Amino acid sequence: MNRPGKIVCVGRNYVEHAAELGNVVPVRPLLFLKPPSAVIGDGEPIVLPPDSRRVEHEGEIGVVIGARLRSCSEADALSAVAGITCVNDVTARDLQKTDGQWTRAKGFDTFCPVGPRVVPLGELASLDELELICRVNGAERQRGRAADMVFGIPQLLAYISAVMTLEPGDLVATGTPAGVGPLAAGDVVEVEIPGVGILANPVVTAPA
Ligand code: ZN
Repeated sequence: MNRPGKIVCVGRNYVEHAAELGNVVPVRPLLFLKPPSAVIGDGEPIVLPPDSRRVEHEGEIGVVIGARLRSCSEADALSAVAGITCVNDVTARDLQKTDGQWTRAKGFDTFCPVGPRVVPLGELASLDELELICRVNGAERQRGRAADMVFGIPQLLAYISAVMTLEPGDLVATGTPAGVGPLAAGDVVEVEIPGVGILANPVVTAPA
């Protein structure tokens, strides 16, 4: 997996997930960044940092940018997409709450599994039919459909590109559906998008 220049993430983009964390649905996309240094590939371990007591999975549909986008319209956005991939926006939920902003909670090394491949839109059914499933040790924890996003992918790309130029290789993580939950050492977490593949990562404790 090539490391993206930047990773733009969207918070609270599914109604039921916003509700499960006691948040209201935003009136415009809620954006944050994850550092490219957090990226790992399929099969690589997610390392639980000693600073957190609650690390959670967030399975997400990832959009990989293929051509530069700056202040694009929703109609033009999809032509600049290289393809779709699976993302796990791993989050230290306790630190997200206590820090007041999300840089540390979302930014630990290994907290952004991406893969296993990038599939062009032309090889997939319509965007709205994209489905995302997240499993821990084979048990389903999350299931969501792109059609259920508060802000759809073209809308997100138009909104983000009005703020910052999206460059080839950049990754947009489109938000997680309901069902987030904790990860423990020894778990294997899978994010699947049918038609794209399965991103599987073991969870380990940081070496002493
Ligand atoms: Zn997320």
